[in-house]
Amino acid sequence: MKTFCGRANPTTGALDSVEESEEYDYHQEIARSCFADMLHDHDRNKKYYRGIRAAVARVKARGERVIILDIGTGTGLLSMMAVTAGADFCYAVEVFKPMAEAAQRIVEKNGFSEKIKIINKHSTDVTVGPDGDMQMKANVLITELFDTELIGEGALPSYEHAHHNLVQEACEAVPHRATVYAQLVESELLWSWAQLQPVEVEGARLVPPPAMGLCAGAHSVCDIQLSQVSPRSFTPLGPLCTMFSVDFSKPVSSAFQSHTSQFVARSGGRAQVVLSWWDLDMDPSGSVVCTMAPSWTYPQPKMAPWRDHWMQSVYFLPSESRVTEGEELGLTVCHDDYSLWYGLQSPSRRDSQTEAPPPRPCCTCQAHLVWTRPRFGELNDGRRTESYVSALRSVLMGDSVCLGVSDGSLLPVFARMIGAKKVYALENSRMCKQVIQQVLEANSMEGGVELLEIRPEQLTSKDLGGEQISVLMGEPCFSSSLLPWHSLFFWYCRTALAGLLRPNATILPRSATLHMVAVEFQDLWRIRAPCGTCEGFNVSPMDEMVQKSLDFRESREAEPHPLWEYPCRALTRSTGVMTFDFTQRVPQQPISSQGSLPLIRKGRCHGVALWMEYHLTADITVSAGLIGPVSEQGECEWSRHRKQGVYFLRSPWDSSDGAAVSYSFTFEPSTGDIKMDFSVEPQ
Ligand code: SAH
Repeated sequence: MKTFCGRANPTTGALDSVEESEEYDYHQEIARSCFADMLHDHDRNKKYYRGIRAAVARVKARGERVIILDIGTGTGLLSMMAVTAGADFCYAVEVFKPMAEAAQRIVEKNGFSEKIKIINKHSTDVTVGPDGDMQMKANVLITELFDTELIGEGALPSYEHAHHNLVQEACEAVPHRATVYAQLVESELLWSWAQLQPVEVEGARLVPPPAMGLCAGAHSVCDIQLSQVSPRSFTPLGPLCTMFSVDFSKPVSSAFQSHTSQFVARSGGRAQVVLSWWDLDMDPSGSVVCTMAPSWTYPQPKMAPWRDHWMQSVYFLPSESRVTEGEELGLTVCHDDYSLWYGLQSPSRRDSQTEAPPPRPCCTCQAHLVWTRPRFGELNDGRRTESYVSALRSVLMGDSVCLGVSDGSLLPVFARMIGAKKVYALENSRMCKQVIQQVLEANSMEGGVELLEIRPEQLTSKDLGGEQISVLMGEPCFSSSLLPWHSLFFWYCRTALAGLLRPNATILPRSATLHMVAVEFQDLWRIRAPCGTCEGFNVSPMDEMVQKSLDFRESREAEPHPLWEYPCRALTRSTGVMTFDFTQRVPQQPISSQGSLPLIRKGRCHGVALWMEYHLTADITVSAGLIGPVSEQGECEWSRHRKQGVYFLRSPWDSSDGAAVSYSFTFEPSTGDIKMDFSVEPQ
């Protein structure tokens, strides 16, 4: 069955009516799921297997039949391990229908149908009894319901329910226990993702609104590949603290709890950020540990297992505070049923006994709702700001009438500070408008920028006081952009505004270029690579399901990834493949570009990285992708502010002398789509 969904096109801005089959979302979810990454996580798999073998052996040693409950069975992997380890029967519960169907096929293919019952339900709907889903309660509880924050996928309520309803009182659990660790640090880099910092413009200082400094920020976790954040970019102020543990073999509560860890500050500094990760003890003795510790905690960082389905968490304290070396501190973690947050207490300053646990953070200044964390980082990037300010300075004149088109952008404020006669900004939402308004007020610039909540095609000369625009500017940056080329929305806005521009108006940026480089990923390839067999079990039906979902879409697409978190080596030189001339309107006809890039380094070509570079003026360019020269070995340095596009080849290519990557791109103006195709061929 087909359905129609109204959806704002991120590039053209038009409200498209998209015809979608009912299955579209399923396929999208499967194609982009972490299942392959989990199955490639050999460290996790083998530790689960060891934990499962030991638990089954303990129950058998007690002379009991081993009845397993596997909540969130996915491919059925952990149940198959359990049966192989000697379990008598498994109830394997999976809520996601296509996954439950795949599990059924996988279990059959591996000859376990007699001993594994797949139940396509949420575990809280599972019934026990003669007519129930389960004949009896289980005595071994196996789960893998964790996310980077441990509890963000609802592990606690699922465990709570299972202990009340689905497992016996004295049950074994794999994993047996989870422990959360945290470390208080000072980090200019990470803190720049939470708070707007003062900006120097033309000798004046633009300060953030006081409400932003007092705001505890967004409540969502910031999950990143912490291994890619160099220890040089933060200073530990305390030791790694053990915050709390959950024993999964006993009844679990999902009610609010807080835990405080006391320590003495190791060094003085600004307490800003908490780095956190967890580990799983697969057995009660703690001899099989699966840890999420970042690679820089390992004596040999290369030995750290890589995984993307579990990363590490960064928490921002509600406000920064100064701590002195030797000071006694208390780091408090709170959790409700789905999330964690942190607060810092200093018993020497206040009576910590009477201090209430910190409330769950909630943005009160709106900025944390308008700007994502990487966007805060972008706004706080002094070098980038300098490029925009220099570009603006070179085009602005005393009589300039400027219009800014970007969401929550400070460019219009800069234009005003540089001395433009009149500055307008189109903001897409009331919230963006209010945030920029606050910035203006905090700097005694009320009315300095006229903020208009009007769509570009509806803007009239009257809205601009009858004047024509001499400078149209954008970063460009839009909250609806997912892929790099979605910022071409600026071009569509410019086209809609053509009638309001002076004949020789400046457009800043004047153009943008789509760039590409073919790459070998150190690890990211795993998330899209077929698994075949996993720990000796044939999981190919899962591979087929993912492939079918990828094929479901008309053409394969690039996907957004922040490449600074995913090291890769360039195998070709990087090249601009298509330029979009913002000084002209969006053309009627498609723009195409074909070519071929020789592989210049040995390696395994997994795909292509794509990004935009914005040419602010003839000699100032800002890159949202590569931000430095590629090293001799091909190592790349990526902008941390925006996600790049990644197009995975269907099968990787081992470069041999003489091979080249052929590419073809077509920009379709009516839809704003960029269709692309790549192949590697020997030359
Ligand atoms: N056990 C598999 C898959 C883990 S992924 C493995 O280790 O490889 C977690 C899976 O649990 C997802 O497929 C998700 O759909 C499912 N899930 C999460 N919570 C659930 C619940 N309470 N009941 C049933 N399925 C659940």
